[in-house]
Amino acid sequence: MINIVLFGKPGAGKGTQAEFLKEKYKLTHISTGDVFRYNLKNDTPLGKEARVYMDAGDLVPDELTTKMLIDEVNKHLDSNGILFDGYPRTIAQAEALDAFLPTIGSSVAATVALEADDNILVARLLERGKTSGRVDDQDEEKIRNRYQEYNEKTAPLMGYYKAQNKFHAVNGIGSIQEITERLTAVIDNL
Ligand code: AMP
Repeated sequence: MINIVLFGKPGAGKGTQAEFLKEKYKLTHISTGDVFRYNLKNDTPLGKEARVYMDAGDLVPDELTTKMLIDEVNKHLDSNGILFDGYPRTIAQAEALDAFLPTIGSSVAATVALEADDNILVARLLERGKTSGRVDDQDEEKIRNRYQEYNEKTAPLMGYYKAQNKFHAVNGIGSIQEITERLTAVIDNL
């Protein structure tokens, strides 16, 4: 399995790029945000637990998120590789992933970050909120809270993966195609 972690702030374009990368490299795309939203919509016990955090733009607790993630990965053990989108988002989650993947004979191959300026991203998310129906995209305060969560809890992952020589960053500003090309240049070189 070639497992790739797609990394970036909310609105950086992870979901959009994941659509291209999963086709090109025949990867299984797991977006923890999408799985949570599916559970919210279907009002499952997991959705009920996650809703209060998600609506506020807070991270869902690690234990709940990691359990869900492992359940998802276990559904795709015959995959070419997993494209992780939105996981890990804390050091505890990265450690949980590094503990879990070897149990299925695998590991993280690389982390690729999409970099962009906060102000551009906030404007993008507010625009997306007009059509996405996502409560967490519609209110600037909630969006700012998601950035604060990112800066406090997720940004330290850059150092975590740099220490493993698995961190790569690409400029996330440009056309969708340009950014896909930057990402594929990194992945093709792994
Ligand atoms: P996203 O679609 O990736 O922006 O995720 C939307 C929301 O789902 C986040 O603001 C969190 O509330 C929750 N979420 C998604 N992935 C994670 C994660 N790895 N850890 C904690 N919460 C998460």
